[in-house]
Amino acid sequence: MNRLQLKIVLWLAALAAFVIATGEIGGLALPTRVGLSALAVVALSFVLRRLSLEPLERIRQVADALAAGSDAPRLRLDRGDERDAAARAMNRLAERLGEQIRDAGREAQRLEAVLAELVEGVLVLDLEGRITLANPGFRELFGVWGPVEGRTVIEVLRLPEVDDLLTSARDAAAALVRDVEVRGRGQADRILLAHAAGFPSKGPRVGVLAVFHDVTQVRRVDRVRRDFIANASHELRTPLTAIQGFAETLASTSPLDPEETATYLGVIQRNARRMTTLIDDLMELSRIESDAAPAALDFGPVDVCRVARTQLADLAPRLERAKLEAECLSDSAPPAWTDRHALERILENLLTNAIRYTDAGGRITVEVVPRADRLEVTVADTGIGIPKDVQDRIFERFYRVDAARSRAVGSTGLGLSIVKHLLQSIRGEIRVESEPGQGSRFIVSLPRASGDPEVPAG
Ligand code: ADP
Repeated sequence: MNRLQLKIVLWLAALAAFVIATGEIGGLALPTRVGLSALAVVALSFVLRRLSLEPLERIRQVADALAAGSDAPRLRLDRGDERDAAARAMNRLAERLGEQIRDAGREAQRLEAVLAELVEGVLVLDLEGRITLANPGFRELFGVWGPVEGRTVIEVLRLPEVDDLLTSARDAAAALVRDVEVRGRGQADRILLAHAAGFPSKGPRVGVLAVFHDVTQVRRVDRVRRDFIANASHELRTPLTAIQGFAETLASTSPLDPEETATYLGVIQRNARRMTTLIDDLMELSRIESDAAPAALDFGPVDVCRVARTQLADLAPRLERAKLEAECLSDSAPPAWTDRHALERILENLLTNAIRYTDAGGRITVEVVPRADRLEVTVADTGIGIPKDVQDRIFERFYRVDAARSRAVGSTGLGLSIVKHLLQSIRGEIRVESEPGQGSRFIVSLPRASGDPEVPAG
């Protein structure tokens, strides 16, 4: 019943009560008139009640709508009494609450977008240790794909160390920071740096917030650097100890016969040379690895056969001393698109290794073969060969298959590392094929200079 209908009923009821009470309707017995009057009074009081309750009912509807967070309808202001003031206050409240609800919605959307884009994993737990929020970064880092909300960390991750960390963080005074390892889970092993803290930081805690950051690469680089420093110090200390020992003997033992003196001095010279080579190699490696290296490269068409023949000619005295035969099997090949100096250093290293690890009477060959848009340069020897299980490791810094033999031939264990890094900077690749006791083949692939004619033998 709307307001107009209520008003009509009100007037009719009032009229009926008046007519009945004043006896205007003739012929009606007194009890009937009293009954009708009572009915009219009841109808009147019902209508009055509806009229007085209606604004309250409207206010209740608006309050319910506000409580439900939906947009509340506005109240009308046409009564001309104090109810208009109440409706105005209610409308203002609805306005402000509506604004706040919209702000909160926008804020939640923004937060959700940030959490979705973060590569860090974010996890929120309640005080019972149940997950209330886990962003996509968390799922990605831990390889978790099913529903997680409402479950415990140990159920979802099965990693006791993460569970311990989060449990301890709940009551800890400050944030806890720790590395955690994630193994398997259908992806490579990872090291994650975890920050976990109870929140809020002041007042009673309501939950735990944890952020996980992938530091696998950083930790790996740290380890390589630490190993490198340890290896380099060890490599430098060995010749230095020899120099120190023999120099002290020379200084303290007198008189020494000339033959002994010459032997001692020879040892000192040899070890000093070894230190110089080692430092030169270390410097070269650090230069190639530094960011400045690519700028120093000068790319252009390079005749690989010619470079190989020049290298073999330069090494002729060493080849002769080692009683080895060496030749370049290719007369001509298309030019490579590369840096000449880098290529010379690569071939020099590979040929020097071939000389070091091939016994007298052996043979070393270089071959240059075009393949699609690449050139394959093979340095082969008939030397001692390399066992299959360590063929990948020989490109690591300081790795030697037989340390004693390598040291005896004056090697540093850095040659193939330098080769690998040089090749990375000239977009080349290297692989090895070797059979212990049969010999080794180092195959280098280089980009070809496009559209250039074949370079004649020269
Ligand atoms: P090194 O200075 O010791 O030669 P490299 O990095 O050049 O260091 O080589 C690493 C190791 O690989 C060597 O110590 C050697 O054991 C093995 N190696 C390299 N080239 C050959 C080869 N042509 N024949 C056999 N072993 C080789």
